[in-house]
Amino acid sequence: MSTNKKVVVIGGGWAGLSAASELCHRGIKVDLFESNEYLGGRARSITIDDLELDNGPHLLLGAYSETLRLITKYFHRSANEYFEEQPLCLNIDNTKSKNYKSFYLSGSGLSSLIRAKGLSLREKLSMARFLLRLKRRAIKVLDNETVEQLLRRENQNGNLCALLWHPLCISAMNTPPHKACGRTFLNVVSDALLQTKLESRFLLPKKPLSKTFPEAASVFIKKHGGNIHTRKTVKLQTQADEQFCVSGELEKYTHAIIASSPHQITNCFTDNELSNAAIAITSNFKYEPICSIYLQYSHETNIQKKMVAYGSPNERWVFDKSYLSPGLICVVLSSSGPHTELTQEDLAETIEQELRDCFGYTTPSWKKVITEKRATFSCVPDLERPPQKTSVKNLYLAGDYTYGRYPATLESAVRSGVNAAKLVLEDM
Ligand SMILES: Cc1cc2nc3c(=O)[nH]c(=O)nc-3n(C[C@H](O)[C@H](O)[C@H](O)COP(=O)(O)OP(=O)(O)OC[C@H]3O[C@@H](n4cnc5c(N)ncnc54)[C@H](O)[C@@H]3O)c2cc1C
Repeated sequence: MSTNKKVVVIGGGWAGLSAASELCHRGIKVDLFESNEYLGGRARSITIDDLELDNGPHLLLGAYSETLRLITKYFHRSANEYFEEQPLCLNIDNTKSKNYKSFYLSGSGLSSLIRAKGLSLREKLSMARFLLRLKRRAIKVLDNETVEQLLRRENQNGNLCALLWHPLCISAMNTPPHKACGRTFLNVVSDALLQTKLESRFLLPKKPLSKTFPEAASVFIKKHGGNIHTRKTVKLQTQADEQFCVSGELEKYTHAIIASSPHQITNCFTDNELSNAAIAITSNFKYEPICSIYLQYSHETNIQKKMVAYGSPNERWVFDKSYLSPGLICVVLSSSGPHTELTQEDLAETIEQELRDCFGYTTPSWKKVITEKRATFSCVPDLERPPQKTSVKNLYLAGDYTYGRYPATLESAVRSGVNAAKLVLEDM
């Protein structure tokens, strides 16, 4: 392989960092540019009053094989250093309110699903039939079928939807069941619930997000000769000799990887030919928000699991964030719904009241709402996601939105980054 090759990566989210790590690992020279002063993109920490909060709690699966591979094999860190394993707990089981039904799943796989608390025998049998059909690849998804339609066709009704499938759909796909893509949902269910015990683990960060993958990737890239330039918003330009350069810099590059969010692509190019190649498909994308409400209580909070869900139809997930500050709670509301019409103050008030009703919490010393308006693309049926190879020679895309089996997740970002690097290497 010739060594006069140099790659520019635009974007320092998990996709861009993965692409740069993979290339540096293979001895290729890389310059990575990131607009913000921090790395991590949509999965990062923000410092507020000396406290490092995440822009939103993130959940990983044991099946996130590429993310875990990079962490252990390249960055030489143990996954346990960053994440802790959690059972899935949907709908509150330690609530004061009698209105909530509870579903609690400890462990993973079909057998633990059957042992799960909160469902009747008939519901468990119906769920088992569905999962066995999925395992045998006997479920055929119809064109344009939403999660709601698919579940109805598979006789997944009542409590099964309210306590299990709908919360799982909203949290994993950030898209409500009546809009979400049935086919992608089956990929998530299969990887979350039907794989080996190790793969079906739920993993929650036990450090601020920026101190996990982004920090480890940054150390790795620099150690292997790569350069990371933060606070640099750049645009890609082509040169007469088919090489690339970026605005304001003299360096020339043989290959380029654009690792921005889909809505930022237009701002990554100076020239129309390049941007047209990349944005034609993403201009059809619609986006879903995620609101995270942090509340600081003075007492030890009494959530027995690190993560529980309550409420319907826009399920709220409650995360215990006491590892950041004792008594800190974060409530997450995925996708759009009545809550997105509220002001931040009213939303914080509403959540405070709900926590008082459900958990008996008193008044928090402070509360803070973080809204990511374009947290993920809306994962609807038959959405055309762009391939990573563009029509421009040596130009590739990376990001959670490119073609893949998952909705917008950390793993889809990492897989696309690694794959973009592999495509570049094949060119060399
Ligand atoms: C609140 C929230 C909660 C989430 N929860 C989960 C979860 O529990 N589990 C999960 O798997 N996923 C979750 N996600 C989704 C996950 O965070 C994203 O899928 C993933 O971070 C996307 O990474 P990316 O690298 O593709 O894009 P991004 O993170 O958007 O990175 C793109 C980067 O490119 C930079 N950039 C853009 N244009 C330029 C330019 N011209 N010059 C320089 N830099 C540029 C941007 O500043 C940005 O840092 C969540 C997302 C949010 C917002």
